[in-house]
Amino acid sequence: SRATLFDGEAKVKITFNDVAGLDEAKEEIQEIVEFLKHPKKFTDLGGKIPKGALLVGPPGTGKTLLAKAVAGEAGVPFFSLSGSDFVEMFVGVGAARVRDLFKQAKEKAPCIIFIDEIDAVGRSRGRGAMPGSNDERENTLNSLLVEMDGFATDSGIIIMAATNRPDVLDSALLRPGRFDRQISVDKPDIIGREAIFKVHLKPLKLAADIDPKELSAQTPGFAGAEIANVCNEAALIAARRGKQAVDMHDFQEAMDRVIGGLEKKNKLISPEE
Ligand code: ATP
Repeated sequence: SRATLFDGEAKVKITFNDVAGLDEAKEEIQEIVEFLKHPKKFTDLGGKIPKGALLVGPPGTGKTLLAKAVAGEAGVPFFSLSGSDFVEMFVGVGAARVRDLFKQAKEKAPCIIFIDEIDAVGRSRGRGAMPGSNDERENTLNSLLVEMDGFATDSGIIIMAATNRPDVLDSALLRPGRFDRQISVDKPDIIGREAIFKVHLKPLKLAADIDPKELSAQTPGFAGAEIANVCNEAALIAARRGKQAVDMHDFQEAMDRVIGGLEKKNKLISPEE
């Protein structure tokens, strides 16, 4: 509900098996699972466990999924909020929410805090703004920085944030001890798409003519979210037609619909084209 901006999910069931493709990202992020599961292994040798990692990539590529999978693999709670939730907030509310989130997280540690669309709060702080000006977004960002500095590296909290605009982020966020690790989560290539199709085809009743390789070849430019969408649409189309299994015709129509939807979205973004 809108009343709480973050949910503490006690038990996350998503694991790396649910995340297809993204082999490099998974390999890099495995390190964070280790930090959460065996912190002493690292701190005993005097190492400081990183506090945050930034997942960078276009929409729908599985950043949220990957962050959840880390929680699932490590068996720790997952707290999330979205930067865009702060955009229209009353004075003081954003900063209070951030403090509240970290307070809850400290009680539940080890755990993960996930901040989606961090660029919405984490944009570079205005240069033109008067010193001491009371910009609510900046207050929220400042409170995030304060909270990140305020817990010890061995407190068991790891903050993951997602963005497709790392270039606009305030450099303070990227300093050592904050989001000092960046992990790319790119759109899948043909092999990655095939793997993602396989994940999302699994729950469907399929006709014999369905070939994940063929579906992958027909969906260049699709992100994981669109592939998931195609699979679900195809199942709904087949059901509407009273079929017993989802066949290639249904997928063809589902792909056309999703492509149509994407084109419409692009037109809205750049009407001159
Ligand atoms: P956004 O930046 O728009 O929030 P995101 O990168 O966080 O997007 P997700 O929300 O993780 O993307 O992806 C949406 C859905 O798409 C997932 O819940 C999953 O069903 C599917 N999906 C995306 N990427 C993958 C993937 N690599 N493997 C399997 N499923 C995926």
